[in-house]
Amino acid sequence: MSADDGATILETKDGGSKTPDIKKTKFDVIIIGAGPSGYTAGIYSSRAGYDTLILSGILPGGQLVNTTEVENYPGFENAIMGPDLMIDMRKQSQKMGTTIIDDEVVDVDFRRKPFKVLTASEEYEGRAVIIATGATPRKMGLDGEETFAGKGVSYCATCDGPFFRNQEIVVVGGGDSAIEEATFLTKFATTVHLVHRRGELRASKVMQERAFNNEKIKFHWDSAVIDIKGDQKVQQAILKNLKTNEETTLDIGGLFVAIGHNPNTELFKEQIELDDKGYVVLKNQTHTNIEGIFAAGDVHDRTYRQVITAAAFGCMAAIDIDKYLTEDADK
Ligand code: NAP
Repeated sequence: MSADDGATILETKDGGSKTPDIKKTKFDVIIIGAGPSGYTAGIYSSRAGYDTLILSGILPGGQLVNTTEVENYPGFENAIMGPDLMIDMRKQSQKMGTTIIDDEVVDVDFRRKPFKVLTASEEYEGRAVIIATGATPRKMGLDGEETFAGKGVSYCATCDGPFFRNQEIVVVGGGDSAIEEATFLTKFATTVHLVHRRGELRASKVMQERAFNNEKIKFHWDSAVIDIKGDQKVQQAILKNLKTNEETTLDIGGLFVAIGHNPNTELFKEQIELDDKGYVVLKNQTHTNIEGIFAAGDVHDRTYRQVITAAAFGCMAAIDIDKYLTEDADK
């Protein structure tokens, strides 16, 4: 629920609601991003008594908003839907006192303290900042991908799967995301063609087994989609076997791309040290190269990238900030 100005209505500790003080611009802690790491950092930071702001960006909830069942987040014996988990984390963070504003950060100034975080309409100041901007789905780089975006090409099976009832679908990728999406899409599709560039999957064994046992999933090994064709919408995918160079045409209704993610660090590249793939480099625990600027979640994590690890990094960043701010009262 949003107020006219775009600010989110908050739930208070007594269960009521209030509109965030949108005139307030100075905070102890500013968290940029509202995925599992951002919300968890908000819970810990507010609970520790810090005046905390989350600027959530244009897609609050991060990647989990685009997922289906999460069955490996502890505490949910019967799994929980990704979007529901994020709504609960958001409410929990608000309940602890975090101000959440659904606005996009357009610039930052980490060169001097207090740090500045800017949206199109406001300039916020924070004594410490957590970068929790996560990562974005990677694209294949084909012309057809752009041409047919929203017309059969998708990056979100949960969002778009029901549009492809009784049609054939291609899913590109071999990781957990691709297998999860392919399995989910068998609810709607007659056949899901899983196109993977190698001869074995990267996905976890349990998810692989599930996919191998699903008769609706057909695997195209050592293959790439080299072209997407159609009139008003996607009608064909052209596959190339990378070992034999043989080309195959599949008549399809939709094509889902699930080939990994790129970290959302464009905003910070002039000021924060990034690695060769654009991930934030951590110097010590969750500290970046700038004292007082911290990072949490998929924006720096190339290894684990789970909901629980993102949440854990959010917790760690908030605890590190507590230590940082209490060690020097002048900060
Ligand atoms: P990922 O593990 O990085 O896998 C990306 C897949 O896409 C790989 O199979 C890769 O092929 C392929 N790929 C990359 N670039 C490509 C390109 N240009 N063209 C064709 N294929 C390309 O990414 P992810 O599947 O999104 O998973 C990210 C993280 O989230 C992982 O840690 C995963 O475990 C986690 N995750 C967990 C769950 C779950 O537990 N329920 C669900 C989803 C994701 P290669 O294998 O040849 O490199």
